[in-house]
Amino acid sequence: MGRCFQTFSNVPLLAKIYGMIRSKPPYYMRGGHHRNGSGSQMETVGLFSRTGFIAERTLMFRIVLPPETRDGFEPGQYVHIEWESPEITDEKGNGRDFSIASTPEEWPVLSFATRLTDSAFKANLERAADGTPVKVSGPYGEFTLPSAMGTRKWDQPVVFIAGGIGITPFRSILRHYLGKYSSVPFFLFTTNRNVRSIPFLEELREMSKNNKNLFLEQIVSQPEPDLPLDLETGILTPDRMFEAIGERAKNGDYYIAGTPSLVSSFTTALQGARLSPEQIHSDPFFGYI
Ligand SMILES: Cc1cc2nc3c(=O)[nH]c(=O)nc-3n(C[C@H](O)[C@H](O)[C@H](O)COP(=O)(O)OP(=O)(O)OC[C@H]3O[C@@H](n4cnc5c(N)ncnc54)[C@H](O)[C@@H]3O)c2cc1C
Repeated sequence: MGRCFQTFSNVPLLAKIYGMIRSKPPYYMRGGHHRNGSGSQMETVGLFSRTGFIAERTLMFRIVLPPETRDGFEPGQYVHIEWESPEITDEKGNGRDFSIASTPEEWPVLSFATRLTDSAFKANLERAADGTPVKVSGPYGEFTLPSAMGTRKWDQPVVFIAGGIGITPFRSILRHYLGKYSSVPFFLFTTNRNVRSIPFLEELREMSKNNKNLFLEQIVSQPEPDLPLDLETGILTPDRMFEAIGERAKNGDYYIAGTPSLVSSFTTALQGARLSPEQIHSDPFFGYI
């Protein structure tokens, strides 16, 4: 599949400026992400609309691309979204990166989910009328499953660790691959503050009910009375995951998405548990603290 559909010449520049302002490493060096280097990146303008709330202060929205938009994306990739002429602006800019939460089958519709904050970018997400044009560039990133999934064995689990809104790339991956690779064991661990803030709670429950090869463990950090039976309280640790996965844990591939601090602490912990760097794949959502 072609991997790129659109890009803007000013995106790397904007991202570098972000990097300088925020004193972070340059955009193109972060988290193992690379722009797809085919040299054939393009740009497009899609039409925005809100889908609805999927958790507390967590909005799902979609962008319909022009039907003639070429190529597609691989589940796990992200795009850069930029308001064309926003009603509200601030010094943080009109563009953000978002993992695609929908599947390639839904093309040319792309869906996303985000936590609302008080930034101008997010205020526009809350207010913009359906059909507002937005620039979309990408897709970017290599947070994707290996192509050799078909030959994977039952003792080679694929493990996903989603911190909060970090669930978005996994939603795309799971919806796309779960049925296709029914003999591959998938493990999804999510961690959120409380039940209200778990994105796609019902959908994930349904997914694991309907797919015997998906083990789901959802953990909330704040103790709550009347916690549903399928949820757990506490802190997600590698030991906790390894116990759930069992002996085959050491053969697994581990994918981590969420805030940079969550991703980095899990990466360190998994390295400490003697997993090799090739087994650890990370998708830090820069822009979140
Ligand atoms: C690969 C990737 C995938 C992402 N996927 C999602 C997703 O699915 N859902 C989601 O909610 N968020 C996602 N994010 C984070 C998203 O891009 C926003 O940064 C985040 O939503 C916070 O935006 P804000 O307007 O609420 O925050 P603000 O309070 O405006 O803070 C964002 C701050 O970070 C800076 N910034 C923005 N983007 C970057 C960047 N790439 N590098 C460095 N600084 C930056 C801005 O200049 C701003 O100062 C992703 C980020 C990356 C890099």
